[in-house]
Parts: sequence; structure tokens; C-alpha cells
Amino acid sequence: MGGSLAGLLAAHVLAGHADQVTVVERDSFPEGAQPRSGVPQGRHPHVLLEGGQTALESLLPGFLAELRAAGAPRVGMPSDMAQCQDGRWFRRLPATTHIYTGSRAQLEELVRRRVLANPVIGVVEGSDVVGLLGDASRVRGVRLRDRSGDSRGEERVLEADLVVDASGSGTKAPQWLTAIGAEAPHEETIDTGLAYASRIYRGKPGALDGDTLGYYVYPSPAQVHAGGALPLEDGSHLVIVSGLRGDEPPTGDDAFVAYAKKLPHPLLHRWLDEAEPLTPPFGYRRTSNARRRYDLPGHRPAGFLATGDALCTFNPIYGQGMAVAAMSAVALRDVLADPRETPTTLRVQRAVLAASKQAWDISAGADRKMPGAVGTAVEGKPADRAADWYLARVQERYPSDPVVGRAFRSVLTLAAPVTTLFAPPVARAVLFQPAAPPLTEPPAAPEQPGA
Ligand SMILES: Cc1cc2nc3c(=O)[nH]c(=O)nc-3n(C[C@H](O)[C@H](O)[C@H](O)COP(=O)(O)OP(=O)(O)OC[C@H]3O[C@@H](n4cnc5c(N)ncnc54)[C@H](O)[C@@H]3O)c2cc1C
Repeated sequence: MGGSLAGLLAAHVLAGHADQVTVVERDSFPEGAQPRSGVPQGRHPHVLLEGGQTALESLLPGFLAELRAAGAPRVGMPSDMAQCQDGRWFRRLPATTHIYTGSRAQLEELVRRRVLANPVIGVVEGSDVVGLLGDASRVRGVRLRDRSGDSRGEERVLEADLVVDASGSGTKAPQWLTAIGAEAPHEETIDTGLAYASRIYRGKPGALDGDTLGYYVYPSPAQVHAGGALPLEDGSHLVIVSGLRGDEPPTGDDAFVAYAKKLPHPLLHRWLDEAEPLTPPFGYRRTSNARRRYDLPGHRPAGFLATGDALCTFNPIYGQGMAVAAMSAVALRDVLADPRETPTTLRVQRAVLAASKQAWDISAGADRKMPGAVGTAVEGKPADRAADWYLARVQERYPSDPVVGRAFRSVLTLAAPVTTLFAPPVARAVLFQPAAPPLTEPPAAPEQPGA
């Protein structure tokens, strides 16, 4: 259910184990890399973190070369961007990781083309899943309703031995499970009320086209506005501004630009003043973290799995969802390939959920501390206090210390486990070295290696 990143990548893995895999998608897929209504977030920045790059490459060998060949900008961090958090500008040290900042539509189209070339995988486009077949002990397929053509509005059934929910953050699967007599999962939520507005611009020649590829101001509990400009594949920039509940960024032309003045530095506002808008601003407000605990005890049927945003949705400001969709597909592949264990529904679901744990800990851990955060998981555990103390020291040193910076970036980009932050050289810098005085202005150029 759902033919976006999580659905396509799950289909790709399952094609190695099934006679036939059918992807059911509400939208009709566009020709080429176009935004589509079933993925409204596609108009907003979508960075692909290193953990996601590794996962995609392992699922679809050669994928990163295809992405590069299609023009997706590959941005070295922290060298190629002017970045700031809490009034501290980051030193532009040599890159220790890269992110891809091309459009979401382009990335999805490349994945779709690769995955749907497999003859085992079929697609039913322009059809809504409207319910499940089966009972509390076993899901046996789905009910579909066509959205267009002569059969518009007609319902039919599609039987299946395994149904995978990849229908995104707005999934109705919990209600559909209840309707067949099974139990809906417990849902953990943390909602900061974060809202985005994004718009594509072409910058004035000479600005953001040399060795500074983009800007980014990150939010924090003390400074809740974020904003930046990230390069797209055609040389334009996708500009985002964001704020919290009650102070959402507007989508009017002038008001969008004026909102950038709320950032703690005039850099983005100045750039916008001279840049040419290529689209209207688009808003987005559904940014709650939500994790559906199908792994916990309950009356759950066999033959039903959830993945991607339908299983675990993150506040998008941390840029993790696509990476986790790909890492979850790798987890699905690995658990199905394990000859020592019978892949029961519960065992497979646990493995898929485990692939999102680090990303959840990062976004839930940070969002709990944001002013006005609400939800069922907003309370931390007492043990979080010691971790918070250590993390605050990491964050103070991260913008300027090469050792702490490398370690923290590798964790945030889902390329290395959280334990990396406690490796002896990192712990020494965090515990015993004073934080360097913050840079109060953005460095104009990358630092040279060894400088
Ligand atoms: C504003 C914003 C910015 C983001 N930025 C980033 C970022 O920088 N980096 C990053 O990695 N991630 C980012 N994400 C997260 C990313 O968009 C998702 O995590 C990613 O798309 C995973 O997608 P998915 O396939 O699980 O769901 P989605 O991409 O949401 O797709 C769900 C699919 O299911 C289909 N569907 C829904 N209901 C039905 C139904 N009943 N029947 C049939 N089909 C159905 C939809 O049409 C859609 O195609 C961002 C998200 C948002 C909201």
C-alpha cells in the first residue's frame, strides 16, 4: 500500500521472495520527476543523509552514480555550507560526510524507474486502498477503490499473502485493523507544531554558486526559527523557513521573504532580496513525530507489516525519513535472508522498526526539549538527564571541534551508531576540552585540509 520510497523499496526486497508483488498507489505516477499530490511534502527540501545513501546503494547498486549523473548536488559537510545553530557559526572544516540536496521528485523517480523495471513487480495506479481483508488472526489482502476512469468509485479486492503498509504518515491501517477485529498499535507522538514554508529561487550570479553551496540556520529551544537555501539539480535553490505553533511561516510572496528576518542573522534575508522566485511559497504543517508500536504485545494478525512513515514518522527538520525508509528495506532484506530464524510477522516487524530507532531517538530526544511540544511520548526517562548533559557539551563543541564535529555528524546522518559519541578521543574533547569561542559571523570560504 503506497508507491513512494518506502513502498517501492519494500517491493524491491519482497520481489526476491514472492511470485508476484503488487504496488497499489493512490496517484497515477507522473512522467519524469514531477511533484505529485500523494506526496505533498515533495515540494519541500529533501536531503539524503549518508545512512540513506549507503542503504540505497546496497539495495540498488549504482544508484548514487545515477543520482549524480542526473545532477543532484552533493554537498560536503561542513565545508560547503554556511551553517549556524544557537548563534554559533560552524567552522567550514574539510567535509567528513556528504548530503544530496536534489529534489525529492527526482530521487523518487530514479528509485521508481529502477524498481518497476523488475517484471515480478506490478503496479495498480490511481487506486485507493480502503480496507483490509481477513480477520484478527491473518490479513489476506486489501480492498481497493478506483479513483478515475470508467471504474471510478468501484470497489474490488486484491488477495495477498502479505500486506505491507507504506501509505505514509496519514496511514489508516490502525482503523482498518480494528475493523477486521485486530488491535490498533499504541501510538507514540511528539508534536512541536513545527511548520514549513518553501519556495524555489534563482540566486543572483555570484551568490551561492562558488564554494558556498547553501546556507542553513538550525533551530534550538532557545532560537526556534530555522531557514536555509539548498541547491537543486538545475542550479536553482530551494529555500525553507520554519517556525513553531502560533508563529507559522506565511505563504504570501512578501510575507515569506519578511519571515526570513526572524532568523538570528540577515544572511538569508539579504540573499532572498536579490534572488528571483520561480514558484509560489508552499506551506506544510503535519510534522509530528509518530511511532506505531506494532512490535508490542497485542492482538495482531499475521501477514501485515508496516514500514516507512506509516510505521515511524519523524519531524522533517532532521531530514531522516527517506534514509530510514531505505534502511528499513535493508533490514527487511536481511531478516528475510537469515537462515537461522523463521521470519514470523512479529520478528520481521521488529527488525524493520529497529532500523528507525536511532533516527527516532534523535528527533524525539531533540523535540522533547522544544517549547510547546505535546504528545504521548513527550516525557523523557530519568536516565535521559545524564545523556542530555553530555549532549549539551557535544553540541557546544560540534560547530568548531573537528573530532567532536566528525563524530556528531556521523551519528546525525545515521552513518554511525550513537556510541561513536563516547569513543575515547571524542569523550576526551567533550569532557575535558573547553569549547572554542563561537564564530559570530559565517566563514566566507572552506578551510583547507591541514590548515
Ligand atoms: C516537509 C517535509 C520535509 C521532509 N524532508 C525530508 C528530508 O530532508 N530528508 C528525508 O530523508 N526525509 C524528509 N522527509 C520525510 C520523507 O518525505 C518521508 O519520510 C519519505 O517520503 C518516506 O516515505 P513513505 O514512502 O513512507 O511515505 P510517503 O512518501 O508519504 O508516501 C506514501 C505513499 O502512499 C500513497 N498512499 C497513501 N494512502 C494511500 C492509500 N490509501 N492507498 C494507496 N496509496 C496510498 C501516497 O499517494 C504516497 O505515494 C520530509 C517530510 C516532510 C513532511
